[in-house]
Amino acid sequence: MDESAICPVCEHQGDTAPVARLSDRRKGLSGRWDVVRCGACDSQYMTPTPSDEALTEYYSAYTSDSEVVLVDGLGTKQPLLRRAYHWLSGDVDPRDFVSIPAGGKVLDYGSGGGTYLSYFHSRGVDIVGAEISEVMIDACSKAGLRLHRVHSFDDIPFPDAEFDVVYLMQVFEHLRRPRRFMQELGRVLKPGGVLYLALPNADSAWRRIFGANWVSGWFAPFHLVHYTEESLARLAAEYGLTVVSSWSRTPESWFRLNLKAALYRDDQRVEAHRSLIDSVPSRLVLMCLLRLTDVFLRKRDCLVMSFRKVQEQ
Ligand SMILES: [Zn+2]
Repeated sequence: MDESAICPVCEHQGDTAPVARLSDRRKGLSGRWDVVRCGACDSQYMTPTPSDEALTEYYSAYTSDSEVVLVDGLGTKQPLLRRAYHWLSGDVDPRDFVSIPAGGKVLDYGSGGGTYLSYFHSRGVDIVGAEISEVMIDACSKAGLRLHRVHSFDDIPFPDAEFDVVYLMQVFEHLRRPRRFMQELGRVLKPGGVLYLALPNADSAWRRIFGANWVSGWFAPFHLVHYTEESLARLAAEYGLTVVSSWSRTPESWFRLNLKAALYRDDQRVEAHRSLIDSVPSRLVLMCLLRLTDVFLRKRDCLVMSFRKVQEQ
């Protein structure tokens, strides 16, 4: 364990406490990764941070089984039904909560399979995606969506004060230089513009219960930094972004993955593991139990925060 590690969130050096020693339980990569907690800001981060070369290699295993989903599914055609289902399943979906002002310009950073991008585009929103995966870019471009290729996670390839809304869904925890990136987010937002982030919650009660089996959140070696509501708010404030809203919920799909990791401890590919737990009746029971426990647990697995860029005086 590296005692002299520098916190990527607050730049405090040393004063770390070990949290977990992890292996990859989802994609089957070999290796061990340590996570420590920063004594100054409570963020948790992987140390040593994998090099850019190592990350490139990890990601070659990552996108191979991702899917591009651009068809108008039930979730697009029936927004009320979608919201109701997500309320039960705990799924965090920007279509349910991202609010876009009339004529507003939107950036979907890390647009992945393009589901949200194509949804907002089909509703006439002036939206552009940014993505690193070649496969995703090709598919989305062919479908007529506007998409920018991301070459480096240090820069957002757009001019200053370009967007009214920027959202990143399960992306921010992948970034190795979050300070630099938060500065970039502040730069591309218009004054008064809003940033939405959804990411695993380092403060989640389920993290404490599942320990190293909290694979939905740890996702070693892809999730490099784990934030609490407070550490993320402090980081954003440094770059002129103040908290508008903050909430959390536990997606049933995340919980089920963690449950399988805890039950099948020797399995290095729990993501591909199918068991009785994945059946529809079992999932419905889990959903209902999670919504009940959410009443008592204030800190849940997926943290969703929105921030407003301070208006210049
Ligand atoms: Zn820190």
